[in-house]
Amino acid sequence: MSGYDVLIVGAGHGGAAAAAALRQRGFTGSVALLGDEAELPYERPALSKEYLAGDKPFERLLIRPARFWDEREVTLLPGRRVVAVDADAREVETAEGARIGYGSLIWATGGAPRRLSCSGHDLIGVHAVRSRADVDRLIAELPGVARVVVIGGGYIGLEAAAVLTKLGKTVTVIEAQDRVLARVAGVPLSRFFEAEHRAHGVDLRLGVGVSCIEEADGRACGVRLADVEVIACDAVIVGIGIVPATGPLTAAGAAGENGVAVDAHGRTSLAHVFAIGDCAAHANAYAGGATIRLESVQNANDQAVVVARAIVGDPVAYDAVPWFWSNQYDLKLQTVGLSAGADETIVRGDPATRSFSVVYRRGGAVVALDCVNATRDYVQGRALVVARAVVDAAALADPAVPLKELAAGR
Ligand SMILES: Cc1cc2nc3c(=O)[nH]c(=O)nc-3n(C[C@H](O)[C@H](O)[C@H](O)COP(=O)(O)OP(=O)(O)OC[C@H]3O[C@@H](n4cnc5c(N)ncnc54)[C@H](O)[C@@H]3O)c2cc1C
Repeated sequence: MSGYDVLIVGAGHGGAAAAAALRQRGFTGSVALLGDEAELPYERPALSKEYLAGDKPFERLLIRPARFWDEREVTLLPGRRVVAVDADAREVETAEGARIGYGSLIWATGGAPRRLSCSGHDLIGVHAVRSRADVDRLIAELPGVARVVVIGGGYIGLEAAAVLTKLGKTVTVIEAQDRVLARVAGVPLSRFFEAEHRAHGVDLRLGVGVSCIEEADGRACGVRLADVEVIACDAVIVGIGIVPATGPLTAAGAAGENGVAVDAHGRTSLAHVFAIGDCAAHANAYAGGATIRLESVQNANDQAVVVARAIVGDPVAYDAVPWFWSNQYDLKLQTVGLSAGADETIVRGDPATRSFSVVYRRGGAVVALDCVNATRDYVQGRALVVARAVVDAAALADPAVPLKELAAGR
């Protein structure tokens, strides 16, 4: 049996960042980065943006070139899937039956795309957008595709809709809630993006469920809505969230319901086992201490550093301010803080100018900003979020008042 001082399972954003951070912080033991994808660790956000659009080749998505891992003596173990963890023996088992030992285990497996449960969910022509393989399958079909139905009006579904519209496809987006981005943003932002997509020709259906995917000749040919209407299409994209990929760890006894529960240092309830990234359920200061999972590059990278520091004996509690971005058409959305739980929404600027921000407050304190083509607000508003600043609503709403003045004048 082989073994490593640190074994990282999941070679995505968090896994790669953890390996790099261990070396950067002077860890000299053996480190292996094991993942079930074939590729070197790569950047996932571009999959629904520049990569799908054909604007960025895969090589430019690599988080680090191969030589980076060689130089740092990080052993890459691609194409392997962990199916079981034995926390007492400090071993994992792969699908091929190999057992790999560890001193510390970092679980960085992200999540699997949530599947539809209705009939037709597994037909040819039904796509997820999570991995390079997913997107390559979609891209390979695109020349024969004129009409696409996107199920799910979250960031990934909307980004894919924007790209496909630009590629000349006829796009319908189906969202079960009564607005897009309902899970992550306030009403003004949802309404803005709904109007943008409609202006670009997207047929946006809100508040409607899917009853099944229709089939013809073994392929998806339409989406039947709960109200029995069928939207004919040549391809379906399902973007309805992820299920944290925690099966083997949970089976080994790790605590946690929606994800693996971790403390402020990324430790799970199993000795010598840490978890980071999309699969890690943690108490987040910016969510008022609530236990949440964050699905963002920021969170994966920052939790990776926290765990690396715990392993090298230089611990620091996780307290990073959440941030996120999304590109749709010529719009750059930048988000800082967490808007869920806000009790007040202030629009700063005029959405009609396509450059504005939405400021979220809870109990009078600024908790988040969504900034559309407004990088200055995003950069300057961060200090308000970090300080949970209590700022006058009228000043926040006035784009002529720079946010940095409000931060300085508190
Ligand atoms: C299309 C798309 C667009 C996105 N856009 C943005 C964006 O604009 N901004 C942003 O901040 N975030 C974005 N995200 C989210 C961001 O990519 C994730 O939050 C981030 O990748 C999480 O990192 P992670 O390390 O937790 O998981 P991942 O990067 O998903 O890596 C997990 C890896 O573990 C592998 N794995 C899973 N189970 C096993 C197992 N049992 N054994 C071995 N390997 C396993 C997976 O295949 C995967 O390679 C986007 C995500 C997607 C899919």
